[in-house]
Amino acid sequence: MAEHDLFEAEESALRAAADTHALDSLDARSYRDALGTLITQFRRQVREARRVIMHSDRQERELNILNARLTQLAAELDYKAKHDSLTGAYNRRAVIELAEAHLRDGALALIVLDIDNFKRINDEHGHPAGDAVIVELVARLRAVAPEPVEIGRVGGEEFTVVLPGMELEAAVALAERMRAQVASSPFDIPAGRIVTASFGVSFTPCGGMFTEAYGRADAALYEAKRRGRNSVAS
Ligand code: GH3
Ligand code: MG
Ligand code: MG
Repeated sequence: MAEHDLFEAEESALRAAADTHALDSLDARSYRDALGTLITQFRRQVREARRVIMHSDRQERELNILNARLTQLAAELDYKAKHDSLTGAYNRRAVIELAEAHLRDGALALIVLDIDNFKRINDEHGHPAGDAVIVELVARLRAVAPEPVEIGRVGGEEFTVVLPGMELEAAVALAERMRAQVASSPFDIPAGRIVTASFGVSFTPCGGMFTEAYGRADAALYEAKRRGRNSVAS
């Protein structure tokens, strides 16, 4: 019904033109009138077709822009789901997923570290300075971590470095370089201040459990704290 209404004028002009065409005895005036009606209808059709095409082109462009925005938002959402907003390091869940995936493929070393006496830093310099220390600490860890850097913030001032395929000895040496890098010079907070961290290291063969790998690194970290902090244990 709607289609019939939509093209009624064109159908009628076409019928009239076909009828005129079928007769070979009409006078020139009749042929001319039929041709005139056909021209009017055809012009209208061309105008309409142009309008529809422009409209659909515009809609396609708008759809492409929306699609690109959607892809970008999905990527941002994925990034936010896996990263800590303060430091840009992986979050706890991402670290667990990364480490578990590595353990399915091979051996894994883990470094777990915790800032020493951090509560005191907050108390003496304020919470914003504490946050700045956390950010700078991650930058210092990155500076010595091998590529691709897989550092996660698994707690307030506690971090994990995921080291696929690394032997215990190499991971302990890396933790020692990280410890030295953290303690080497004052942090860039208003009063300036030496910050130290304690490190625990574990090695887990292929097929091992993350909880076990983490548990042993955490126990070693506890041992490093017990020894007086600013140290590495495995
Ligand atoms: P230890 O050497 O035994 O690790 O002592 P600590 O003071 O570092 O440990 P404790 O667990 O007593 O204190 C950790 C503090 O970290 C307490 C908490 O207020 C602070 N903290 C946790 N998350 C954040 C954060 O995102 N920003 C800041 N500024 N402080 C945080
Ligand atoms: Mg601490
Ligand atoms: Mg802690």
